Amino acid sequence: MAAAKPIAQIRLPPLPSIKDIIRLYKLRALRELSQNFLMEPRLIDKIVRAAGNINNHVVCEVGPGPGGITRSIIKQAPRKIILIEKDPRFLPSLELLADACKDNIDVDIVTGDILKTNIAHFIPKDIKTGWNDPPPPVHLIGNLPFSVSTILMIRWLEMISRQEGPWELGRTRMTLTFQKEVAERMAARILDKQRCRLSVMCQSWCTVNYKFDISGDAFLPKPDVDVGVVTLTPLKHPIMNQPFKLVEKVVRQIFSMRQKYSLRGAETLFPEEAREEMVRRMYKMAELDPVTRPFQIANGEFSRICDAYSEIIKKYPEFENYDYRAPKKPKIPASNEEIILVE
Ligand code: SAM
Repeated sequence: MAAAKPIAQIRLPPLPSIKDIIRLYKLRALRELSQNFLMEPRLIDKIVRAAGNINNHVVCEVGPGPGGITRSIIKQAPRKIILIEKDPRFLPSLELLADACKDNIDVDIVTGDILKTNIAHFIPKDIKTGWNDPPPPVHLIGNLPFSVSTILMIRWLEMISRQEGPWELGRTRMTLTFQKEVAERMAARILDKQRCRLSVMCQSWCTVNYKFDISGDAFLPKPDVDVGVVTLTPLKHPIMNQPFKLVEKVVRQIFSMRQKYSLRGAETLFPEEAREEMVRRMYKMAELDPVTRPFQIANGEFSRICDAYSEIIKKYPEFENYDYRAPKKPKIPASNEEIILVE
């Protein structure tokens, strides 16, 4: 089927302002759903512009609320909009918008939790591209609720690593807001004081671009913190060669003692009896100096540590499920002790 001809811009009919919508439908912001609404159309347009060209694209918006960002997305004439909103009180205002653009844009309104919604289900499959092609005409946009933003990001990174969900269709891009401190961590490079597990996880699978800050004053009600706008594009060639869960475990343990030499955290990947020997071996295999601190380790070096850890647990599968945080330490069979000590 031939693709529909893109429309340059859509002009919405006169609509009540977002402020009026909130007043009209008595939409008191709920703290438990992290509801902080953006009121300033120019700022909202700036977020949507950060997504680049979305004309004739499929756009999924997370948490549209009263629809400020949705209006700005509609103006860019996407092919389809998928709105996923947990709070059903916003349905009438979103339906009003869907009705206003029904002649040009297909709108799906989903009342549900983003953490439980299969976005791919709503995306037409005819826009699939190969992983090594330029990103498909699909975009995920959201002024995310603080309460779910980090967990959602980690979940999406895992889906990206498996090319599942919206990433079945190719390297689907994202334009998202986070608490400023979280956004800075996501983008923090080696030697940056903000560098942490989230930095390594995000940058191992995506190009992360910190676009701009939004002052907390721009929201109603005003949150305690400022906000950062970030774009993420999945990498053609992820930096990590290992499964997501393995990488998550290794990176988490290494950053668990962030002020100390990285080997201190790395030791916690192994039971006490084997620690010294296994970590020495792991750093040797990865060709990494054990006296580097976690924030001094580059993404590629983390990848080598993960490869080395993977080799070690292949050889000593009894270490694979070792959990430093578990209350009881598993006993290592005596027969392993010999193997461990022999290089
Ligand atoms: N997009 C609007 C704006 O920018 O003004 C509202 C943003 S507000 C920070 C977050 C929105 O996400 C709220 O509308 C809230 O109801 C919704 N939300 C909260 N938790 C959600 C979840 N788990 N799934 C989907 N939407 C959620």
